[in-house]
Amino acid sequence: MSVDRVVLATHNPHKVAEFQAIVATVRPDLTVIGYDGPEPVEDGVTFAQNALIKARAATAHTGLPALADDSGLCVDVLGGSPGVFSAYWAGHAKDDVANRRLLLDQLSDLAPEHRGAHFTSVIALTLPDGTERTVEGIWPGRLARTETGQNGFGYDPVFVPDDADGTPGTGSAAELSAEEKNAQSHRSRAFAHLLPLLASL
Ligand code: IMP
Repeated sequence: MSVDRVVLATHNPHKVAEFQAIVATVRPDLTVIGYDGPEPVEDGVTFAQNALIKARAATAHTGLPALADDSGLCVDVLGGSPGVFSAYWAGHAKDDVANRRLLLDQLSDLAPEHRGAHFTSVIALTLPDGTERTVEGIWPGRLARTETGQNGFGYDPVFVPDDADGTPGTGSAAELSAEEKNAQSHRSRAFAHLLPLLASL
C-alpha cells in the first residue's frame, strides 16, 4: 500500500507544520493534514495507550493513516509520575506554573542524586487496515531546584537535561533555543524511530 496523506491527531497548526517538515525528510510526497474531528477521552494509563486512543480516533473519523503523540515528565522517586498526568498534576486547570511549583515543592528536600527524571514521548501510527505501531523517545536528566530559562513550555524551566555524554547537565531545557531543544528532545528521539515506518508506508 502506498499512501499520500497522513492525519496528525492535533488541532495545533504548529505541530502539523513541525511534523510535515520532519516527514518531508523521508517522504516528500506525503502530506500531513490536521485533524478536525471529535476528540476522544484520553483515559489511558500509559503514553502509548493515550497516543493510540488519539490516533485510532483520527483514523476512524477520516479513513486515513494517522499519527498522534503523547508526552510528559517522569520523575524517578515518584515512580514515573507525573507521567500521563503531567498536564494537570496540580489540577484540571492545566496550569503549567502551578504544575511546576507543586513538583518542586514535593521534591524540595531531595539531594541532587535523587532528582533523576526524564521526558518521554510516544508517537502512535494507525492504519485503516488495523495496523498499529508506537515508537518512544526518552530525554534523560534531573529535576532542578528552582526555575531557570525563558524558552519552551510546560516543565522545561525545571528540567535539566543530561549532557550528550550522559553526565548531569547544568542548564534547564528552557535555556535552550528551539533548535537546540529539537536536536535532542524526547520528541525528536521518538521521531527518529518513526521515520523508517513512514518511509515504508
Ligand atoms: P502533550 O503530550 O503535548 O499533551 O504534553 C503533556 C504535558 O507534558 C504538557 O502539558 C507538559 O506539561 C508536559 N510536556 C510534554 N513535553 C514537554 C516538553 O517538551 N517540555 C516541557 N513539558 C513537556
